[in-house]
Amino acid sequence: MRAFEATRRFFHTAAEHLDLNAQAREAMLMASREVRVQVSIERDDGSLATFVGFRVQHDNSRGPMKGGLRYHPEVNLDETRSLASLMTWKTAVVNLPYGGAKGGIGVDPRSLSQREMERLTRVFVDQIHDIVGPDTDIPAPDMGTDHRVMAWFRNQWEKYHGFNPAVITGKPVEEYGAKGREEATGRGVGTLTVKLTKRLGMKPEATSIAIQGFGNVGSHAAKFLSEAQFPVIAISDITGTYYRKEGLDIAAALHHKLQHPYGLLEGFTECEVLPTDALLTLPNVDILIPAALGGVITEKNAKQISAKAIIEAANGPVDPDADRILHDHGVTILPDILANAGGVTVSYFEWVQNRQHYRWTLDRVRQELDRTLSEAFEHVWQNAHERDLSLRTAAYMIGITRVRRASELAGLT
Ligand code: NAD
Repeated sequence: MRAFEATRRFFHTAAEHLDLNAQAREAMLMASREVRVQVSIERDDGSLATFVGFRVQHDNSRGPMKGGLRYHPEVNLDETRSLASLMTWKTAVVNLPYGGAKGGIGVDPRSLSQREMERLTRVFVDQIHDIVGPDTDIPAPDMGTDHRVMAWFRNQWEKYHGFNPAVITGKPVEEYGAKGREEATGRGVGTLTVKLTKRLGMKPEATSIAIQGFGNVGSHAAKFLSEAQFPVIAISDITGTYYRKEGLDIAAALHHKLQHPYGLLEGFTECEVLPTDALLTLPNVDILIPAALGGVITEKNAKQISAKAIIEAANGPVDPDADRILHDHGVTILPDILANAGGVTVSYFEWVQNRQHYRWTLDRVRQELDRTLSEAFEHVWQNAHERDLSLRTAAYMIGITRVRRASELAGLT
């Protein structure tokens, strides 16, 4: 199923429970602007390489649009459109004063040198600089991009518009970044996993966890949860699944990641090594955390999932057909628009600090993150239980209602 179709179906399920007519639904689903640009760079060997870049700005009823930049071979307009709309509902669920956007380039970052990545980022900024800005659309890191890409982006954008670090978040801490931004999405996933397992009556020491993807989000979630005494029994990346029934040594895996090219787990031997796609359907997993790509859990593999709960650290990992099967099997799903909102929440804190020229301590960032996510979780949990809805439908309903209310107050409808 295409990514936008999946988001559209989740939206419509929630809209059924709200008094939203067909015209209002279409208006809320359609992006306000979609931009596709050519990104051509000179490679280190002097040859020319051409890629396609996108920025989709979905909705700004609640504030400037906010959303990551993804560098991945599968980036396309449909996926970017889906991710931009997820950002609108996500920022609304956690009640940040933002709308939603997303962007990216269809490129495998591992096929580029550092200098080529820098050139690619600068050419992309040349193409889109006039539609992004601290009061309009503020990018951030996503798959395949990190604080260095954010620093290049800011530097290139400022050549056109002058000093304004609030144009992008996820910057290096020494370059106007926020302490705690890098860990924020994974930490938020960990915090919310603790909350959900408490509600489900599961004890940390007796709750096994499997995490797909050991990049920014997956590795920080693994660290947080293993420190909270959960046995993390499996982790995976593009090189394989790394499994140990009694629980992996996550500190050793993190150390291995730091020492190896592209942060991969290849060569990590203190465990059994299985094929990459084995992770999702491992037996005896209590909590499954997909933290890599979208669309990985479908009707083809949903029935083989042993977990009692799924925490959607990635965007769109469970498609609507799988969602229905899992729901019928009693699996609780914490939806992406809440589960991975820690990243955009600390991005908001970074933007606030940049605008005030003031720095928060790491403790303050963590406290405010915890408070923001806890409030959002309680709100979604209560709404779901009062109305006997899934957590996803309850979260979408809260997001849609807030966006609709903002546009009504502004007099746009
Ligand atoms: P990343 O590039 O840092 O890491 C991605 C990881 O997934 C890598 O370990 C990679 O090897 C692995 N991977 C890729 N394909 C895989 C496969 N088929 N099987 C197993 N592993 C695979 O990306 P990230 O920033 O950690 O983002 C991961 C997900 O989280 C994405 O869906 C992204 O949209 C979402 N997300 C990220 C942030 C953020 O702040 N970075 C915020 C919200 C949501």
